[in-house]
Amino acid sequence: MKQNLFVYNTLTRKKEEFIPLNAPHVGMYVCGPTVYSDVHLGNCRTYISFDLIFRYLTHLEYKVRYVRNITDAGHLEGDGGDQGEDKISKKAKIAQLEPMEIVQKYTVGFHEVLQIFNVLPPSIEPTATGHIIEQIELVKEILAKGFAYEVNGSVYFDVEKYNRIQDYGILSGRNLEDMLNNTRTLGGQEEKRGKLDFALWIKAKPEHLMKWPSPWSVGFPGWHLECSAMSHKYLGEQFDIHGGGIDLMPTHHSNEIAQNVACCGKNPATYWIHTNMLTVNGQKMSKSLGNSFLPHELFTGEHSILNKGYSPMTVRFFMLQAHYRSTLDFGNEAMEASEKGFKRLMTAVSLIENLKTSATTEVEIEPLMQRCYAAMNDDFNSPVLIAELFEAARIINSINDSKLNIDLTNLQLLKNMMNIFVFDILGLKDEQAANNDLPQILNFIVTLRSKAKSNHDYATSDQIRDGLQKIGFQLNDSKDGTSWSKI
Ligand code: AMP
Ligand code: ZN
Repeated sequence: MKQNLFVYNTLTRKKEEFIPLNAPHVGMYVCGPTVYSDVHLGNCRTYISFDLIFRYLTHLEYKVRYVRNITDAGHLEGDGGDQGEDKISKKAKIAQLEPMEIVQKYTVGFHEVLQIFNVLPPSIEPTATGHIIEQIELVKEILAKGFAYEVNGSVYFDVEKYNRIQDYGILSGRNLEDMLNNTRTLGGQEEKRGKLDFALWIKAKPEHLMKWPSPWSVGFPGWHLECSAMSHKYLGEQFDIHGGGIDLMPTHHSNEIAQNVACCGKNPATYWIHTNMLTVNGQKMSKSLGNSFLPHELFTGEHSILNKGYSPMTVRFFMLQAHYRSTLDFGNEAMEASEKGFKRLMTAVSLIENLKTSATTEVEIEPLMQRCYAAMNDDFNSPVLIAELFEAARIINSINDSKLNIDLTNLQLLKNMMNIFVFDILGLKDEQAANNDLPQILNFIVTLRSKAKSNHDYATSDQIRDGLQKIGFQLNDSKDGTSWSKI
């Protein structure tokens, strides 16, 4: 199946066969969040889409090194991310906290949310602040190659000069003249020679909180630079996939390409994969537009636009029912339909174990399984895959109702197929089954704690009690033993 995977490449604007540079290894870099606020559901859509891609490549037995960064410095306000205040510093000042307290809080929150959505962690999750030295080195190299200039302690990338060696609009498909004509000159940009030039290093104002010494000034790196520095460090000068939301493509990703080409003469990634936006009433969900909501508001239903709450797996299923390159509009009706569909699929899966086999078969599973692979091989087409899985659910229900016969070989293939596509690749979980197991798991933990206590290991027993409390369970000790309750 491996050789048949086709991927839509933004760089060439067509679907291309996926051929890694160094199979079976695959290097994939995805731009991570700026951790200055809670991730909203739109951000989650992008990471769920890349989780699907990561899971499928892994299923195809590629050894994927998946690098997804954390932006914890350098992302300024404004469209291009290099005008105004640093988003994290600004939040820290308002909250009267250390910037790193902001970073810690929202990084932890980001991880928790992704875990709830059953998103697998990346192989490496580097931070911008952990790679200041690498970024300074990269600025030096770009300066040495003549594609950047220094003004008053800040360093800017010279886009027009770069455009002479490679088209700056190679990714966005826009031409430089049009971009120059359509870009406003903003106040505070006087140091830049060209309207499209962007900052590689920014001299810090005295009140700026996160700053580091460099050959040019005490300052901080530009946002676009971190991804070039970290992808270069962990995946090399050239790697297979670079991804992110489509909103990052025109500026952030175009600038990343420019930086890499200027420094090493090479386009960093073979395939550029961009996920489309989650919208609300047709408008991109975004914090600044005020139309975003948080995952937990969706789970509890506590938001004015929601009729009720939906479980995390219903939300994941809803997102996977759209192709990652299509926009997806959030709405109650669509969510309710997904809830029903997800239940139907899970009910069918739960019936498989008890299906009876016959000596003969009236159904062949192999062609269905081939169609599931064909869907995923066609640019990770999860909605088509889900349609095939509904066909499998229909077959399961018919067998269960004794309306269709299946033999043992086909039943085993069917089980295998559902395990692979529903759980491993789509990354869904049977929430009902998970809830059913919970009392047993908690009773087991309570037994471990009692053991620790009877061994006078109070540190461990307290750690277990506090840990459970944090995730919403209260332990009640009495002379008859320990019981637990939900807080
Ligand atoms: P940010 O923290 O703003 O840099 O965003 C993190 C990731 O979420 C980026 O890859 C964005 O492209 C993506 N993103 C932001 N808003 C949405 C949205 N409404 N739908 C899907 N992805 C989004
Ligand atoms: Zn990036």
